[in-house]
Amino acid sequence: MNNPIPYGRQNITEEDIEAVVSTLKSDYLTQGPRIPEFEEGFATYVDSKYAVAVSNGTAALHLCAMALNVQPGDKVITTPITFAASANCIRYCGGEVVFADIDPDTYLLDINKVREFLEASPKGTYQGIIPVDFAGRAVNLEEFRQLAEEYDLWIIEDACHAPGGYFIDSKEEKQLCGKGKFADLAIFSFHPVKHIASGEGGMITTNDKKLYEKLLQLRTHGIVKDESKYKNTPAFASGLDESQYSILDTQDYPQWYMEMQELGYNYRLTDFQAALGSSQLIRADDGLEKRRILAARYQEAFKNKDFIKGQSGVIEGHAYHLYILEVEDRLGLYNYLRENKIFAQIHYIPCHLMPYYREKGWQEGDFPNAENYYKHCISLPMYPTLQEEEQNYVIGKIKSFYEG
Ligand SMILES: *Cc1c(COP(=O)(O)O)cnc(C)c1O
Repeated sequence: MNNPIPYGRQNITEEDIEAVVSTLKSDYLTQGPRIPEFEEGFATYVDSKYAVAVSNGTAALHLCAMALNVQPGDKVITTPITFAASANCIRYCGGEVVFADIDPDTYLLDINKVREFLEASPKGTYQGIIPVDFAGRAVNLEEFRQLAEEYDLWIIEDACHAPGGYFIDSKEEKQLCGKGKFADLAIFSFHPVKHIASGEGGMITTNDKKLYEKLLQLRTHGIVKDESKYKNTPAFASGLDESQYSILDTQDYPQWYMEMQELGYNYRLTDFQAALGSSQLIRADDGLEKRRILAARYQEAFKNKDFIKGQSGVIEGHAYHLYILEVEDRLGLYNYLRENKIFAQIHYIPCHLMPYYREKGWQEGDFPNAENYYKHCISLPMYPTLQEEEQNYVIGKIKSFYEG
């Protein structure tokens, strides 16, 4: 193999390039027609009512926490095996992150551990839960919803790894990640290693109209442009005294008028990024199919191997953002693969043991399943354009590392 093999990579086609270039030649660079087009396309893809495109997945998380009114001191539960942003969004609002351990078989936030926390404190102690469809495996949100109802919690689903992924609910129905039936809000990222790439980019999906409208407002500075919602008087808006204004035969706000009603941000996506996102969305199901084929081949290659302690396996509805092995001598394998130009990756260093969160009191031993998982996990190359011969090369090198 001459070319290095990364763990993940984007796939940009001529159609993608054409979509971006034609948008650059249009009248809009930001917030033009490509934005609602991408939002509608994405909402259709995940079967949600609404979608809000934002500048990246982290901004999506931040806006969700704001829309749900996370306040200083609020306690929110999430998994330590995720990208730090899943937890950080709570800190942006001054809330407190409470980690709970993972299920060692699924690598997902363990609902039983969450229940233990909830049962051990008076109702009202916790405000929300952020489950993560880690590696592309869909969380059973129906179960989390039941728990959330019992304890009056909201749910943000971090679905960055799982566009197109789903779980099977108690009625044997497929529930797509981000669909918004069970979670209040769901978020996605379009960073180049994710399934759909727009450079930087993110999306929030929901079925809740109020939250949807709030998100639109927060995405653009908290600015409102809707007469029926204005708080200042039309006279003030027109720059006139009430006495001057009252002799006019109109009660209209002037066309230039708008109001900033709450503290928002500029978290907009650009039109050319949205064009790239929409173009990529067309191929999303193809990509998913290829990922599932690659996963099945990895599973077949490593079944019954005694150096394997665990692997992602073939699971219905898994979106295979990552294919993970748990192995002995992970460091040795990682370095050996690097020497052979295979750039595997580790997902993730447990969040609670990042120095920032250690300073908040978390320590080694807090979450044995997450910590044990971290000692053994390695993410193998997994992306739709990974060729069969490249995958065979990866598999061959892993076997030769352990079996000589
Ligand atoms: C990528 C990712 C994010 C953050 O997305 P960005 O677009 O990089 O800000 C959040 N959560 C998870 C699980 C991710 O993988």
